[in-house]
Amino acid sequence: MDNENLAELLFPDIKNKPCYYEEKYPERELPEKAEVTRIGPSPTGFIHLGNLYSAMAGERLAHRSGGVFYLRIEDTDNKRKVDGAVESVISSLDYFDIRFDEGAEVERQAGSVSYGPFYQRQRAEIYQTYVKELVRKGLAYPCFCSEEDLNSIRKVQTDEKLDIGYYGKWAKCRCLSCEEAAEKIKSGAPYSMRLRSAGQPGNTIKFRDEIMGEISLPENMMDVVILKSDGIPTYHFAHAVDDHLMRTTTVIRGCEWLPSVPIHVELFNVLGFRRPKYAHTAQLMKMEDNKKRKLSKRKDPELSLGYYRELGYHAEAVRVYLMTILNSNFEEWYQKNPGVPIEEFNFSLKKMGVSGILFDLQKLDDISADIISSKEREEVYEYFLNWMKTYKPESVPVYFADPEKMGRIMDLCMGVGQKRRRKDFINCIQMFGFLSYFFDEIFEPEYDFEKYESMTEIIREFKDTYDYNDDSSAWFSKLKLIADKFGYASDMKAYKQNPEQYKGNVSHVAEIIRVAVTGRKNTPDLWTIMQILGTESCSKRLDMAIDHLAG
Ligand code: GLU
Repeated sequence: MDNENLAELLFPDIKNKPCYYEEKYPERELPEKAEVTRIGPSPTGFIHLGNLYSAMAGERLAHRSGGVFYLRIEDTDNKRKVDGAVESVISSLDYFDIRFDEGAEVERQAGSVSYGPFYQRQRAEIYQTYVKELVRKGLAYPCFCSEEDLNSIRKVQTDEKLDIGYYGKWAKCRCLSCEEAAEKIKSGAPYSMRLRSAGQPGNTIKFRDEIMGEISLPENMMDVVILKSDGIPTYHFAHAVDDHLMRTTTVIRGCEWLPSVPIHVELFNVLGFRRPKYAHTAQLMKMEDNKKRKLSKRKDPELSLGYYRELGYHAEAVRVYLMTILNSNFEEWYQKNPGVPIEEFNFSLKKMGVSGILFDLQKLDDISADIISSKEREEVYEYFLNWMKTYKPESVPVYFADPEKMGRIMDLCMGVGQKRRRKDFINCIQMFGFLSYFFDEIFEPEYDFEKYESMTEIIREFKDTYDYNDDSSAWFSKLKLIADKFGYASDMKAYKQNPEQYKGNVSHVAEIIRVAVTGRKNTPDLWTIMQILGTESCSKRLDMAIDHLAG
């Protein structure tokens, strides 16, 4: 019994040799320096902001260089699989406009060769082919240790404060002869496959991370599992085989994988593969009580991508914001190049943060407000309508009953046709609340009257003299008359000189009317709002306010 026989006994159904796959998935025909990158989500149903951050870096790197960005579903861990997760990943990538050229579920292929399948569970035969070859060379072996065996090893190692893992004298199955192993296999004992590591304690490996720079880490000396007992690989092994055969040039992934690089380096070496470049992205953090802390799945809803869709953030705002935190020089470029597609920005891994990237929702809101205010009214109208159809369908007949009215509201709130655009809108949920006072059916005034004198009389007088046909200057002249009548200054200069002689000034009168009509203190131009609402609605609201003040 030798390694060759053992390999045959372990994998009788594997007929191909690695060279078969090497030929089937040749080097990609791409321009020099073109990068091949990928996103490899696990279908756990939770694709988060960190994934999107890495995906954008990968997408930009590939597409800036004339390369390929692809999607691989890393479903080796069946226990964590969630139904519908793949669809949700794809729809998130679509929503945020992260275009991938090849990958799961999608009839896209970048060149003449298909590098799929892109689901790892469908690639079992490929991985087994490579493991079989490692067994032939004596570089991998079957391990028959049970969960209990491994737990008791771990316990002793913990008690003795030793490195935890399967190595050296602890790696019992490493020393089994081919005969002994064969006997156990024939008796039907379950086994996993392990790498026969050549690593030595005390050795270090050095490599260059494209983001983190020069890194040195202890060499791997663990006989890590490469194939689980069901014949499905571990992440480490699948990463090596897939990124090799799919011809990835740069692996961009979260920094939680950085400590595993020594394992990956050894795997690439024993498999005889050229190693891709690595780029580990730093952790996303937030400020809390003046301290930075990691974004957490449990505490921070903004980590989930669903959050941005539910709140109706414009995908472009999220993209622009992510670019801002991806590359330190992006913001300046963006400001200097208004209207230029962000794809033209010269994205670089070298400009990525190496630790604790601060994610700031306030900043995202500012960017959102800028972006929405720069859009055409029709686009914002459609964007708001589409969001409402999905997330507040019962409100569509209220907000969109009269498309012309909604169009006028949008023009007003966006400042269309004004010297300066307004920035009232941040995202759909905020627009939903912000615009609610325009609709009598759902109007819920938040009366926040200051303590001015004669408010009821002022409102009554305003109601009696209001004429829908007044233009805005006639309307304002009437406000001034009311101011004079009730002891408020209609002339701001006079007021500033002797404020104590007045109960207030005309802006206070306007504020009283604003709060009475809209139930809000801050609104766009009040005259226009009243034009949109119409006389009947305004009169009712003025009466309501009078009733409210009467207590
Ligand atoms: N499936 C891995 C994860 O979800 C991907 C890591 C990688 O991109 O290699 O964390």
